[in-house]
Amino acid sequence: MTVTVKTFARLDDAAGALASERGGRFLGGGTLLMRAINEADPTISSIVRSTDPSLRNIALAPDRIELGAGVSMAAILAEPDLAFLHPVARAVGGPAVREAATVGGNLFAPSPYGDFATALLALDARVRFAVGQRELALEELLGRRERGALLVASVAFKRPTALRFTKVTRVHPKGIAVLAIAAQLPHASGRVAGARIAYGAIGRAPMRARAAERALEGRALDAAGVASALAVAADGISPADDAIASAWWRREILPVHLRRLLLGAGRA
Ligand SMILES: Cc1cc2nc3c(=O)[nH]c(=O)nc-3n(C[C@H](O)[C@H](O)[C@H](O)COP(=O)(O)OP(=O)(O)OC[C@H]3O[C@@H](n4cnc5c(N)ncnc54)[C@H](O)[C@@H]3O)c2cc1C
Repeated sequence: MTVTVKTFARLDDAAGALASERGGRFLGGGTLLMRAINEADPTISSIVRSTDPSLRNIALAPDRIELGAGVSMAAILAEPDLAFLHPVARAVGGPAVREAATVGGNLFAPSPYGDFATALLALDARVRFAVGQRELALEELLGRRERGALLVASVAFKRPTALRFTKVTRVHPKGIAVLAIAAQLPHASGRVAGARIAYGAIGRAPMRARAAERALEGRALDAAGVASALAVAADGISPADDAIASAWWRREILPVHLRRLLLGAGRA
């Protein structure tokens, strides 16, 4: 089947084209989409792209950050003010993949991909769509089974004081995740207050570690303080068996790596 390519100067026109054709797919960096097309995915009839410069915009305010959906991992690594996201961007594929791979595409990358989306979930990011200035919490977008059709324009989040991130992989330095964990761990008087922890590669999409978050509330980040969070670390997860790791193995190693992250490794 012939696949047509439609290019639009304006993002809202691209969004209109995407919404009007079931087989239309928006092209980010194309690291996954072009592979699907090369494999002759019969569900794809057209590629929709946009040259709108807003897609590549990085807006850095003192308290808020907004990343255009077309911002690449390489562009994030080139921005010193986004240093807290550098370990995350650096964890996505090798240099050639990072040059193309976009923030927007990462939100739709199937598990066990989605390392950047995992960090954005820990950052409580909101997603802005190209049509009607509509916004949605990223968590809500990731929770939807059907996530196509809507064109993401940007993601925005409050500037964190710190973000911790770890990715467990069997192939170094650029393997696919067995597991990824991102966490914001604000504290007051040495006690955790309002932790936000996200897991990647252990479900259909990145997810919050709600039981562990609750168990950490009011606790110190020391061996005794994190024990109850580790006991419930795997509550609510649904890892898959895949070519990277078995579900059993993912469950086994989750508390081990969460412990390391909470006790200090993976600080950014
Ligand atoms: C060799 C290799 C290694 C990789 N390693 C990793 C890794 O370590 N970690 C990781 O997380 N990922 C990895 N990936 C997957 C992928 O490169 C990244 O997830 C990347 O961020 C996807 O972004 P993209 O712009 O290339 O998406 P594309 O391929 O352009 O698109 C992917 C999907 O997202 C949709 N989409 C893209 N942008 C938007 C938008 N703005 N709005 C709505 N829908 C959109 C597309 O229509 C398509 O369905 C790897 C891929 C390859 C080929």
